[in-house]
Amino acid sequence: MQKKTANITVNPRPFAYRHRTLYCDGVDLTTLAAEHGTPLYVYSAAQITERFQLFQRAFTHEVRPHTICYAVKANSSLAILRLLATQGAGFDIVSGGELERVRKAHKPALKKVVFSGVGKQLWEIDAALDADILLFNVESEAELHLLATRAEARSKVARFALRVNPDVFAETHPYISTGLSEHKFGIDIKSARAIYRAAKKSKWLDPTGVSVHIGSQIRKVDPFAAALTRVTSLIADLRKDGHNIRYVDAGGGLGIDYGAGAFDPAKQVEKYAAALSKGLANEPAHLLLEPGRFIVAQAGALLTRVLYVKRNGSKTFVITDAAMNDLIRPALYHAHHEIIPVREPAKQSAKQTAGKSSSLVVDVVGPVCESGDFFARDRALPAFKPNDLVVLLDAGAYGMSQTSNYNTRPRPAEVLIEGKSARLIRRRETMRDLLAPELNGINH
Ligand SMILES: *Cc1c(COP(=O)(O)O)cnc(C)c1O
Repeated sequence: MQKKTANITVNPRPFAYRHRTLYCDGVDLTTLAAEHGTPLYVYSAAQITERFQLFQRAFTHEVRPHTICYAVKANSSLAILRLLATQGAGFDIVSGGELERVRKAHKPALKKVVFSGVGKQLWEIDAALDADILLFNVESEAELHLLATRAEARSKVARFALRVNPDVFAETHPYISTGLSEHKFGIDIKSARAIYRAAKKSKWLDPTGVSVHIGSQIRKVDPFAAALTRVTSLIADLRKDGHNIRYVDAGGGLGIDYGAGAFDPAKQVEKYAAALSKGLANEPAHLLLEPGRFIVAQAGALLTRVLYVKRNGSKTFVITDAAMNDLIRPALYHAHHEIIPVREPAKQSAKQTAGKSSSLVVDVVGPVCESGDFFARDRALPAFKPNDLVVLLDAGAYGMSQTSNYNTRPRPAEVLIEGKSARLIRRRETMRDLLAPELNGINH
């Protein structure tokens, strides 16, 4: 259980008011909106680095050889991948496309790539073999077969870990829970030993490790320990069978606090490291970690502008220029994002608070033609007016990486804040970008 300690004042986010205006580190968001338009993703380079270093330190304290393979799907921006690679990160990828992103961002990091995913295609396996990645997290016997065939065709030995399903329950949203046998992920841990044994028949397969990933946005650390206890005992059996297991991959999934309360990320990582260590006991294998959300979620926010405020019956709707195509988490997982104005609301005097409040219960929604296109429902927020800038916090993970062009809306631009300067790391899409793949279809 996360204890709410009254004296913790850690601000887990790089966003704070200065002179009544919201800043990301040294840059004010009003200026950013004027320069780059909205909706706009804003990330703090300092915070991404800090979170990565928290992980590094926590596992150094636990005295374990380890590599942090950042989960690319959480935020796959090339600039962010490069930032992490220069800190020493490896990467967890789930597609051939993400492999190309790592190659572009920092080619030497390819040797620290682990490749996860239940549906790897032939060309993706070939590309990863050619790139000489660290290992494949194999999720089925059929995939292991294909891997052996492709490795042989290229006369290359494929390093692999079976991603085992430990049948451990982790309390999170059902769409992001993966560690139960009813889920599509991994191989039943009870069948793993036999599959490793069978793999010995191919000289093109090197059983390098064992891997596990039980889900995402997991706040209690006990399930991580439970999963690793089972993995550790499997590794002991595998050693008895003569396999040279050098890596144990603990996956990702450590959650953050999306709420308004105090949250101490350093403590959270320490608890996580202690839980993993408990599960691993004296297991000497090199530990691989695949955090995504914890590294980037709170470093980022989605900056948007209020277009209209309208009343329908008893409800008030604040309509923003960002929509579910720009940030789908509320629609997809009923996720909560704090919403705050860029201009700090005046502090209310006691008299005002006792009388009429200046906040209003509203729905914050986007322009997309879906009732699921909402960012908040029945939430008390400061009274927003058209043209006001507002920010959806904690949008650095699974925000931009899950965007779409639904309703033929261009994807937002992205800026990376580095101290007092802002760098455009992805320009806003244009109509030309959106229509180009289709123009041949009408020009004939
Ligand atoms: C999504 C995913 C991760 C990252 O999960 P987070 O919750 O963002 O830390 C790590 N490993 C695998 C295999 C994944 O699918």
